This record gives sequence, C-alpha cells and structure tokens, in this order.
Amino acid sequence: MNRSFLIAGALLMSLSATAQTKPEWTLVIHGGAGVMERDKMTPEREAAVRKALDASLEAGSQVLAKGGSALDAVEAAVKVLEDDPNFNAGRGAVFTYEGTNELDASIMEGTTRKAGAVAGVTRTRNPISLARKVMEDSPHVMLAGKGADQFSAEKGLEQVDPSYFATEERRRQLETLKAKKTSWFDVDRKFGTVGAVAMDKAGHVAAATSTGGITGKRWGRIGDSPVIGAGTYADDRACAVSATGAGEYFIRVGVAHEICTSMRLARRAEHVECPDQAKEEFAQCWRRPELDAETATDIATVVMDEVKELGGSGGVIFVTPDGAGGWSFNTPGMYRGKVSADGEKVVAIYNDEG
Ligand code: ASP
Repeated sequence: MNRSFLIAGALLMSLSATAQTKPEWTLVIHGGAGVMERDKMTPEREAAVRKALDASLEAGSQVLAKGGSALDAVEAAVKVLEDDPNFNAGRGAVFTYEGTNELDASIMEGTTRKAGAVAGVTRTRNPISLARKVMEDSPHVMLAGKGADQFSAEKGLEQVDPSYFATEERRRQLETLKAKKTSWFDVDRKFGTVGAVAMDKAGHVAAATSTGGITGKRWGRIGDSPVIGAGTYADDRACAVSATGAGEYFIRVGVAHEICTSMRLARRAEHVECPDQAKEEFAQCWRRPELDAETATDIATVVMDEVKELGGSGGVIFVTPDGAGGWSFNTPGMYRGKVSADGEKVVAIYNDEG
C-alpha cells in the first residue's frame, strides 16, 4: 500500500470520524516471530509459551492499572520473558559460534525520547534492566561487551554466572548449525526475541526489546534489538515499537523509527476552527488526529513489506499514544499478546489467531 495515501487517508478519516474512546492504558508484548506451525509445536511447548505470555501481560498490566509508567510496565513485562527459558532472551538465549551467550537489549521512553541499550553482555540476569540503567544512570545511550558488564556490576544489578543463561535445547541448535553448516536463520527458525510496548494512563509510551541474537553469531555480531530506531523506538507524538526478526534487515530499514515517523506524520496536528474566546489558546485551535488500530496496523505493514522486499522476515508490535495497539508480521507465527484497560486479554501464536 502506498504510504502517502495511507497518511492522507488517516487524516481524512480522523477528521470526519467521531472521536474514539481511548483506553486508559494499553500493553502489547511479543516473544519472537518465525516458523511456528501447529504440527511442529508440541502441546507442552505451546502451553508453556501461552502461560509465559500471559504472565508477562499480567506483570505489565499490574503496573499500568495502578497508574504506573509505560516504562516500568515494559520493563516488568520483558523481565518475565527474560527469566523464562522458552524465549531467546536472558535465560534460554541462543549460543554464539564459540558456545557462549551474549545478550542485547534496549529500552526507550516517548516523553523525552531518552533511551538505553546494551550489546554482548554476559553476566546480568535481566539485560533490559541494564539497558534502563544505561538510560537513567549514564550519559550514554549504548554500552557494549566488557565495559557494559563492568558498568552492570558497578551499578549493582543482579549478576549471574554465564552458565545461568545456557539451556540444552539452545546448545543442540548450535550443534545442528555446525553439523549441517546451515545458515544462521535456518536453525529452529523461531526467533524468540522478546519485547513490550505500552501506553500509560498519562498517555506516555515506551518500548523495550531483549534478545540473545541469532544462533551461531560470531565476530561480535549485533542485531537490531539493541539498536535504537531499528529494533526499538518510542515517541509520544507517534508510537512505541519493538521488533523481532532477521536483524540485519531491520537495521537497514530502520524499522522502528520508520514506523514511528509514518505514524507521526499521520497524526500531524491540523488547524481547526477556534472557538472565539479561545483564539489564543493553541491547544483548542489545533488537533492531532487519532489513529485507529487498523490504520496503525496498515502503517506498520507498509514498513514490514519493505523488510520483506529486501529479503527479511519477522514482525513488530506497536502502540500509539491513543492506546491503539497491535502487530504486523510476515512469518507463519509470532508469539504475542495484548491487553488494555477496557479490553480482553489476547494471547496468540499462529498467524490465523488473534
Ligand atoms: N532481531 C534479533 C536479532 O537479529 C533476532 C530475533 O528477533 O530473534 O538479533
């Protein structure tokens, strides 16, 4: 679909439509996109994944329902999935070619557009909390490798022995890759990265993403997940996005920032008739069109189509400051979930659900 057409359409629709009711808060999560097909998933695995997604939604919702910030909510939701070995983040992360686990994460909030990220860390139990520490307690946006590990220990984040992250299943995947000399993305193509986006009661948005990267990565390879603008982005004027998939393509397209830019343009403030007595009050003479979930999904899909055109696959989740939340992915499945103050909780895996 043509992007300018979409943006123009969104403006027209919003000016003619009656204002939608904005939910008090919204939370959307993902646990990776990839080849998730019913006949390849054991019932035990499926149940464990759904339970973990539900627990992650629960953790984030509790923060938002109490009036907590979107930033706290996305961190809480991601931590649950980092601690769960079914996902490729924190415990259960994939192995590098050398048989180690190197973790990447990033977090961003939409009000001040402050962001923090870490790449290739090896000892922090919850890399997402380390990314937040970088954002809040350092003058930097991104720290990598040994220095990031050192920063983590100095700041008192929970440290674990690197063996904590390793699981048998992930080790087997590395062995398969080496034995079959398959390419990175051909081994168990469930990417398994985790992420969350939220809009809180104050209308602020935030995004968080955490991953072990891809099986057999080497030479210090870093994907999109810790790259602000590629795997993660948040802007109160537009949206919050977290991505998962073949990171190299997401970096090249600048997926998360690109989606937010398109949504920002679609929500561009329009001059409207001022009530006489309010001529001087900017807020009453301008209005930002609301984006409904369908239009926002179309915008995300246009950008995901660009990823596909270049040869990449994966997906994104998003939330707008109007509380419209959703996803777009071009893989057979994506572990995902969504809940808002006034909505039903949705947990889904395959592309014909939710
Ligand atoms: N995007 C991640 C990376 O390229 C992989 C994933 O989403 O599973 O490192």
